[in-house]
Amino acid sequence: MSELSDLYQEVILEHNKNPRNFREIADADQYADGKNPLCGDALRVYVAFDGDKISDVAFKGSGCAISKASASMMTQAVKGKTKHEAEVIFGEFHRMVTGELDIETDENDLGKLKIFSGVLEFPARVKCASLSWHTLNAALHGEDVVSTE
Ligand code: ZN
Repeated sequence: MSELSDLYQEVILEHNKNPRNFREIADADQYADGKNPLCGDALRVYVAFDGDKISDVAFKGSGCAISKASASMMTQAVKGKTKHEAEVIFGEFHRMVTGELDIETDENDLGKLKIFSGVLEFPARVKCASLSWHTLNAALHGEDVVSTE
């Protein structure tokens, strides 16, 4: 577990310093705002579609290292996926950070996102890690605002 914790820290810091797809999408098909009042994280997630595919996804906003790193990795994970595929990954991610999915024994397509299983050790951070995913999910369903409260 400590090896994963080290990797977790390293990846979070790297993505926080260098967030991927940290920009607006001017002609986005959807966007949603996500807020985590407990920590002060506030993100806007933009999505552009090509048919049923997520052709582009990006985010802007401010927040702690975990919320930013999670948003950064989320954009990498769902770009090019269909809405349904993105929802499946969201479901797996959500079950992982709430302890319902065991990344070692339960089949999943989380790939690099498995790093966020480390958040289980920090219960107050679960909402930080999942904020961008809830916000993406809201955008996929045409909702404007999501709050983790
Ligand atoms: Zn946070």
